[in-house]
Amino acid sequence: MAGGKLIIFSAPSGSGKTTIVRHLLEQPDLNLAFSVSAASRPRRGKEKNGEHYYFMTVSEFKKHIKNDDFLEWEEVYRDNFYGTLKTEVERLWAEGKNVIFDIDVVGGLRIKKKFPKETLAVFVKPPSIDELKIRLKKRSTESDDKINMRIAKAGVELATAPQFDKIIKNYDLDIALKEAHDLVDSFVNPKE
Ligand code: 5GP
Repeated sequence: MAGGKLIIFSAPSGSGKTTIVRHLLEQPDLNLAFSVSAASRPRRGKEKNGEHYYFMTVSEFKKHIKNDDFLEWEEVYRDNFYGTLKTEVERLWAEGKNVIFDIDVVGGLRIKKKFPKETLAVFVKPPSIDELKIRLKKRSTESDDKINMRIAKAGVELATAPQFDKIIKNYDLDIALKEAHDLVDSFVNPKE
């Protein structure tokens, strides 16, 4: 596999990384395309297959694991598998794009390890765990159980932040968006 750059955005669920990634995708100077992951969790709200995720059953997902189709995969929550298909990155690189990922911390660091030079790994830090809880409740797309599961994981995820190339604090969204743009811009369009 060879091609453009890889931009990873990882963070605890509810940190605002999806908002940041969406914003970056709209910036033509960055020439980004979104890596659609495979996922075995149920569809939420208005999510579309092939756009937000390639939704599949746990057994379909396991078949892809067996075939070595993933660049990385993770059982992020119990029976909720998520993974990056090799074909997805190959397809976007063939289109001449830089690929941006919205994935969990373990997956993000795995990709960084596989492609150290081509990858910029960014960790998005929420103001606090309490604020995360408030944001997840506001989103109201999941049960309290599921929200608690995500909060429990957030502490572990926060501890991995120092392993990333850069940390963005998402305390003020406008500032975080600008910071994210500048970071990605200097990585994909280096001025020499
Ligand atoms: P959600 O269910 O909220 O869409 O995603 C749950 C978590 O799974 C998020 O942290 C998200 O970034 C992560 N995730 C999404 N796609 C992938 C992937 O392809 N690989 C890994 N390792 N994590 C992913």
